[in-house]
Amino acid sequence: MKRISLALPALLCSYSLVAADVTLLQKQVKADLPQLEALYLALHQAPELSYHEKETGKTMAKELKALGFDVTENVGGYGVVGILKNGKGPTVMIRADTDGLPIIEQTGKSYASTVKTLDKNNNEVGVMHGCGHDIHMTSFIGSAKQLVKNNGKWRGTLMMVAQPAEEVGAGAKAMIKEGLFDKFPRPDHVLGLHVSASVPAGKVAIAPGYALANVDSVDITVKGKGGHGAYPHTTVDPVVLASRIVMSLQTINSREISPLEPSVITVGSIHGGSKHNIISNEVKLQLTLRSYNRDIRNQQIAAIKRITKGIAVSAGLEEDLYPVVYVHEEESIPSTYNAPALANKMKASIENEIGKDNVLKSEPVMAGEDFGLFGRTEHKLPITIFWLGGVEQSLYQQSVKNGTTLPSLHSSKFAPDYPLTIETGVRAMTASALDLFNQ
Ligand SMILES: [Zn+2]
Ligand SMILES: [Zn+2]
Repeated sequence: MKRISLALPALLCSYSLVAADVTLLQKQVKADLPQLEALYLALHQAPELSYHEKETGKTMAKELKALGFDVTENVGGYGVVGILKNGKGPTVMIRADTDGLPIIEQTGKSYASTVKTLDKNNNEVGVMHGCGHDIHMTSFIGSAKQLVKNNGKWRGTLMMVAQPAEEVGAGAKAMIKEGLFDKFPRPDHVLGLHVSASVPAGKVAIAPGYALANVDSVDITVKGKGGHGAYPHTTVDPVVLASRIVMSLQTINSREISPLEPSVITVGSIHGGSKHNIISNEVKLQLTLRSYNRDIRNQQIAAIKRITKGIAVSAGLEEDLYPVVYVHEEESIPSTYNAPALANKMKASIENEIGKDNVLKSEPVMAGEDFGLFGRTEHKLPITIFWLGGVEQSLYQQSVKNGTTLPSLHSSKFAPDYPLTIETGVRAMTASALDLFNQ
């Protein structure tokens, strides 16, 4: 919120500046824009769910091949890697994620997605690029085009990585496991962007340090001894135990974790019992945990295990009826840490290209992104992801004036101002890469 109110004065005065000082890169990107917009609309209208990005992967491969990249498909699922060697110099990796979400689009746009598919439980669901990955892919191809067109201005290796299954936290892991940093040139810098549903189009927000959070999903099965609701003294009621657990978990953040360390423990789901007068045998809880520091994440999990067990012990349950705490390690996402030196360099490059007034300092958020994994392999590669403003000007100004809430990422109503967003994304990413090649 702080960011939004700070941004407004800059917003009101900056557009005329940009219009007056058109950069060469901007001119070139504008010339590509009709083609890029067509690509965006095609991607937007053909979203595919995580693990199903087959056609999207093919489109990315086709675009990169047409630009002269050496393309490898099906890396870690439907991942695509494009390599372009352009003499001796650093290797710069640019990543875009490719999956859509099970959402029925309600933007009312003429180009809205009408795709329907079956989810893993065989239920019909709508599919939508509700996280803006279509913007990411279009900016990605647009940047590749610019870097190819301007290949006389840089030396090195450009590595384009279209990564699937981001929304389930699996794609980056799978691509790394399949040898992304061993079978291909190992990058010196790893760059990414994510569209923002709170920053206006035409602007970028970037910050060194933590950008996105550790994300963990935890299931707790609370066991008891069921029976008749009229004879509670003959039972151990798991609904009561689960209630105690939910309340006790609140003390982890308030009394165990340092107040200086961000930490979220949310019980998002609680289910148990079948009827008014039956005390059930178990209750199931589903939690999401967020933090930045890995130690805090481990502290959260240890505390959850200790507290749940302690409550079972206090209820007199035998060991075989202690709560079962299951951490979904396969879906665990580490926080994204923007390497400060790289983030600061990119900030300077982007400011240079789109104007200082259009580059905001972003605050870390508690959302997650598996982009962070690219910086957490044994190679300890410096990574940076920046936020690419996507909100239409009029909507943004309305929200500042009236306090109206903007549709968030993953909302069925999220509709970025795609022409300006893509143009800014291509300029910001291309300028960053060019400077990194030439440093
Ligand atoms: Zn998302
Ligand atoms: Zn996303």
